[in-house]
Amino acid sequence: MSDPAQARIDLDAISGNIAVIREQAGGAEVMAMVKAEAYGHGLVPAARAALAGGATWLGVAKLDEGLRLRDAGVRGVPVMVGLGVPGEDYARAVAERLDMAVGARWLLDELTAAAESAGRPARIHLKADTGMSRGGATPEDWPSLVDAALAAEAAGLVDVVGLMSHFACSDELDHPSVARQLATFTDMVEAAEKAGARPEVRHLANSAAALTLPDSRFDLIRPGIATYGLTPVPSLGSFGLRPAMTLTASTALVKRVPAGSGVSYGHTYVTDRETTLAVVPAGYGDGIPRHGSNVIDVLAAGKRRTIAGRVCMDQFVIDLGDDALAAGDEVVLFGPGDRGEPTAQDWADALDTISYEIVTRIGVRVPRVYEGGPDLR
Ligand SMILES: *Cc1c(COP(=O)(O)O)cnc(C)c1O
Repeated sequence: MSDPAQARIDLDAISGNIAVIREQAGGAEVMAMVKAEAYGHGLVPAARAALAGGATWLGVAKLDEGLRLRDAGVRGVPVMVGLGVPGEDYARAVAERLDMAVGARWLLDELTAAAESAGRPARIHLKADTGMSRGGATPEDWPSLVDAALAAEAAGLVDVVGLMSHFACSDELDHPSVARQLATFTDMVEAAEKAGARPEVRHLANSAAALTLPDSRFDLIRPGIATYGLTPVPSLGSFGLRPAMTLTASTALVKRVPAGSGVSYGHTYVTDRETTLAVVPAGYGDGIPRHGSNVIDVLAAGKRRTIAGRVCMDQFVIDLGDDALAAGDEVVLFGPGDRGEPTAQDWADALDTISYEIVTRIGVRVPRVYEGGPDLR
């Protein structure tokens, strides 16, 4: 049975990418970031493939993602949740032994309350804002957060397992904020340790930092995009990583049309000769960017073709000229690039965005078809 569109996920590529990252990152432990459905690749299968490749921690953004990993039987491995909001079910977080990144006092308080009723300490990573001005405690608020956490630890209500922060500009080589954030993190870690913190892991590096900035690796690195084989720094090439997602579709219809035929909504593309058009059943409802109309390429009948006219909700059109393609034939939207298809990075370049957005936005209507990988999914 064929699907109109499908995302084939090469689980061996994910395992292999973790191995490549570990090799290049020289000994630091790896927390594979599997938030947002593992950047569109599928939360649980991607997590298992990352663990098979040597990751020893998993990271997600939201509590529900962590709970889904536990529900799927991913146990015995620490899972860190990066982003909580007041009133979430922190009792379940404690019961399921999910680690929480804590950058605000309200979360520490909710976790200690949950730990008290659970009769078991909450595992936390104190999060420092070293210059991104997003999550985390500012240097001004850090000492009081650290003191409160250490008091809760002394009372048996939390385990401070990690000290962490996050880079704003590590993908921009030589951005001056990078060295500043690294120095600030070093200071904030030192202050916490002076105050009595004894964390298992100190961690700062995302993919770009892990692969380009050895001093940022500390005990643990947190690669996301590199796990999926996409480069965190396009100007530096692939780092030996292999893209794990290939997006394909089965052609729905092929037909001859005369010169002067306006194609798709708004007629933004008009055929300049008699030609063959093919309808590809993937649209913005599947996560194909509408901004890609007349801009992004796909591989069809052995050649790259730019999408002809506007991307619709469920479909788009390509112009094959006089080349032959039959209904049901495969079109490759993006992939590793081996067969001449565009990569997610190529789409990102054409759309002035990042590869993260291209793979993460592929929608729930597109089935993920897993290839390779560890036996257990
Ligand atoms: C998403 C995320 C990462 C991974 O970033 P990449 O650039 O994809 O490697 C690392 N740390 C945190 C806290 C994140 O939210």
